[in-house]
Amino acid sequence: MTAPAWLERGVLIVGGGIAGLTLAGALQRMGVECQLAERSETWAPVGAGIILGVNAMAIMRRFDLADGLEERAWALEGMTITDAKNRHLIRTNLAELRPRFGISLALHRAVLHEALLSAARGVPIRMGTTVDSLEETDECVRAHFSDGSEASFALVVGADGLHSQVRSLVFGDVPLRYSGYTCWRMVVESDEMEVSAQEMWGRGQRFGAVHIDAKRVYCFAVVNAEAGRPDPAAGRVQRLREEFSEFAGPVPALLASLEAPEQLIQNDLYEVLHTPWYRGRVVLVGDAAHGMTPDMGQGAAMALEDIAVLTESLGLTDSPAEALGAWAARRTARVRWIQNQSRRIGQVGQWESRLACGLRNQLTRATPAWAATRALKALAGQRI
Ligand SMILES: Cc1cc2nc3c(=O)[nH]c(=O)nc-3n(C[C@H](O)[C@H](O)[C@H](O)COP(=O)(O)OP(=O)(O)OC[C@H]3O[C@@H](n4cnc5c(N)ncnc54)[C@H](O)[C@@H]3O)c2cc1C
Repeated sequence: MTAPAWLERGVLIVGGGIAGLTLAGALQRMGVECQLAERSETWAPVGAGIILGVNAMAIMRRFDLADGLEERAWALEGMTITDAKNRHLIRTNLAELRPRFGISLALHRAVLHEALLSAARGVPIRMGTTVDSLEETDECVRAHFSDGSEASFALVVGADGLHSQVRSLVFGDVPLRYSGYTCWRMVVESDEMEVSAQEMWGRGQRFGAVHIDAKRVYCFAVVNAEAGRPDPAAGRVQRLREEFSEFAGPVPALLASLEAPEQLIQNDLYEVLHTPWYRGRVVLVGDAAHGMTPDMGQGAAMALEDIAVLTESLGLTDSPAEALGAWAARRTARVRWIQNQSRRIGQVGQWESRLACGLRNQLTRATPAWAATRALKALAGQRI
């Protein structure tokens, strides 16, 4: 693909997460000049685990980012859902999707970050820097950086996550929707899991455990809570163990292997439901545009798909409005569908009432496994 003429002045990417680094690598391959501003002073430490579904892996392959990844990850065969007492409810069979759609991987976020950063090697990255203001003219956007410098670009991409500064600069204060639940993530060593990927449904609580390699397990623990509930380091591990003390199966051993509060990453879970996703020559991608609850494990997948479609759209025309309009038109329905599905799954997963949870579990147990896999097939088979 040749570099579109209208991008001659280059692209500024704000944020070096999954969306920003993927875009930096992709633009570099297209021969488009770009630079990236990342607010963090350094990259480390890079989160816990992540699942890359078949659609995410399709984009990883398209951008040559998947080479060597499988050896450093865990190829998912399926996901077993149980109740809190470890009684089987249903299992989605991901191996069944493989011949047509390829693999789903579970891996440490650091491994993904390394792959994305390596593909973006050569792109200038300004660490510890953000954008304080943006001024737009017909020909360019002038960015004023937090280090006092200024530069003009043909396009500015806000890939700066859920609490995007670029979104605030362009659209003002956009309220986020709080899901009603908070999540702790951790990676622990364990080889005692009966199944390699499991999610357990309690009442107002869920616990997930997924192997990311032969020795390490990525866990997530979700509970209903008010936003901003304090979680001081002192006693954090003990509180989590108490919170999930009624959970059976692998949970007691996994939580027992936690050693320090710093192993736990906690996030209240929010969504971004704002539109539009672009104005003039500034566009939002990934969580900055459409942060979603992680209940389908699709946030990073949507960020990767955004970049695949955006890079295609940029080359379609010499008009920024047409290119960004084409991008948003192709993305909106799919992203909103996944955002809505994810929210619904989370709401049902977080039910508290004994009666409602009992019915939910009974219905899930009675659902044939093919029905669980059908939704995944529809997601993977849809043209992006
Ligand atoms: C608990 C949990 C589990 C999840 N599990 C999965 C999963 O299994 N699979 C999946 O596909 N998705 C999952 N997700 C979603 C996924 O993590 C996000 O959708 C994805 O990280 C979005 O990528 P991004 O690049 O848009 O944003 P981010 O990853 O948030 O990256 C934003 C980057 O911008 C930087 N930044 C922030 N502000 C500024 C600023 N002002 N200036 C410059 N830089 C800035 C940040 O430091 C960061 O590097 C999960 C999310 C959560 C919370």
